[in-house]
Amino acid sequence: MTEQNKERKHVAIIGAGISGLSAAYYLQQAGHSAVIFENGKRIGGAIQTSLKDGYLCEHGPNSLMVNDQRIADLIEAAQLGPEVLVANKAANKRFIVHEGKLQALPSSPLSLLSTKLFSFKAKSRLLKEPFMAKRAADAGSESFADFIRRRFGPEILDKAAGPFVSGIYAGDPNRLSTRHAFPSLFELEQNHGSILKGLIKSKREIKKGKGNPHRLAKREIISFKEGMEALPKGIATLLEDGTLFLETKLGGISFNKKTQRWHIDWKGKNGTIGQGSFSDVILTTPAHKLEDLPLEDEILDAVSQVPHLDYPPVAAMMLGFNRSQVKHPLDGFGMLNALGEKSKMLGALFPSTLFPDRAPQDHVSINVMLGGSRTPEHAKMSESAMKASIMDELRRLLGIEGNPVFSNLVRWEKAIPQMNIGYGSALKQIEQCEKKFPGIHFQGNYRGGISLGDCILSGITLTEKISS
Ligand SMILES: Cc1cc2nc3c(=O)[nH]c(=O)nc-3n(C[C@H](O)[C@H](O)[C@H](O)COP(=O)(O)OP(=O)(O)OC[C@H]3O[C@@H](n4cnc5c(N)ncnc54)[C@H](O)[C@@H]3O)c2cc1C
Repeated sequence: MTEQNKERKHVAIIGAGISGLSAAYYLQQAGHSAVIFENGKRIGGAIQTSLKDGYLCEHGPNSLMVNDQRIADLIEAAQLGPEVLVANKAANKRFIVHEGKLQALPSSPLSLLSTKLFSFKAKSRLLKEPFMAKRAADAGSESFADFIRRRFGPEILDKAAGPFVSGIYAGDPNRLSTRHAFPSLFELEQNHGSILKGLIKSKREIKKGKGNPHRLAKREIISFKEGMEALPKGIATLLEDGTLFLETKLGGISFNKKTQRWHIDWKGKNGTIGQGSFSDVILTTPAHKLEDLPLEDEILDAVSQVPHLDYPPVAAMMLGFNRSQVKHPLDGFGMLNALGEKSKMLGALFPSTLFPDRAPQDHVSINVMLGGSRTPEHAKMSESAMKASIMDELRRLLGIEGNPVFSNLVRWEKAIPQMNIGYGSALKQIEQCEKKFPGIHFQGNYRGGISLGDCILSGITLTEKISS
């Protein structure tokens, strides 16, 4: 490792998931040097794709929302433009399972009026939202369930907002903090006094080119021809030679108070020993892996709550069928259970509808999610019990005959961090630790948002912080 001059920062990044790769790319673009230490054999972290018997299986994220020009620019820079698959228009249709039946969630004001999913009382309650008084900002103590009930009423929580919490976080709306898990909704109320008014206003602003200059007027859900793994692989091609240290075990990460620099030593594959001095260290491992890092006790003590953030288990069972076995047209993004619905599933995606070539010809695929904060035990069922119970439900809901011709199970023991009530004090610890130990940055998906887009944009924010 060479000595840096004053302007050029020398940064060590721990973890080669989307957060680590994006941070390295933006840092190098800004003229800094960055290396990534990854203890696994592969890059991409939670982004994992496999192709089995003609079925493309996403073990982690199934798609990426492109709603910011900077995400689109990164995809172009990685020369992934020709690889991009934009989700089928059917993706706009999302089904809610309510009282054992699939019902399309309204996607326009007109369909909202005509839908049978919501009662007349719920619809009129929804229309009152713009006139509801705003509540003063809290420090993160209002749950998402309380927030939605307060602004929109209980039915919207049970049949729309609650199911989406399962789809995004596999979380529990009674425990997630609105301020920390859904900061943009929180801000809409704070800045505009109403979610609906705020949404309409920000749509108008985007059209007029006002507000966030990066925000795209048309949001797109995308994947890549060879699946989501194309994204980390594409970003890796943009990194300078010698950036990635795979299969590397860190021996120590220590801060020298005198020089204000970070000293790291490591053991690479083939047993090579290395060490280096860095201005900054970015930790992008999941929070529950922080205690595995050879950090000084003083640092771990300073962020003692962070490794204990809740990461519920999730299982994803991908099932394949002959098209003729499935009566339902699967003409949507997927289905999510209304709160209170008796089901072992959190919901399911319809990958072969969303993107082409996800299943062999004349076959379809359904990716079922189980577990999460409310029903973690469902992610831990035996594979045979899980398949039997899913099939029981799918036969009823989608009119499926016979057994799946393909199945693939992925289990995430600790899947997605939950920004639950109380998260604010873990965040405060992180901020204080970063002040006490200049140059350390906690930047996994437990900070700044869990979506892939958030993880990418966090790399930009962090580069700006480090550059300043
Ligand atoms: C089942 C599932 C479905 C999802 N679906 C979507 C979706 O459809 N759309 C979406 O936008 N998001 C989705 N997400 C969320 C998104 O995938 C993640 O938030 C994101 O990929 C996290 O990236 P990361 O780089 O922060 O962390 P990770 O991907 O966890 O990467 C961390 C890296 O650190 C490495 N590491 C760990 N310990 C060490 C160590 N001691 N030394 C060195 N390296 C170490 C790991 O090996 C890993 O490579 C989903 C997540 C899951 C689990």
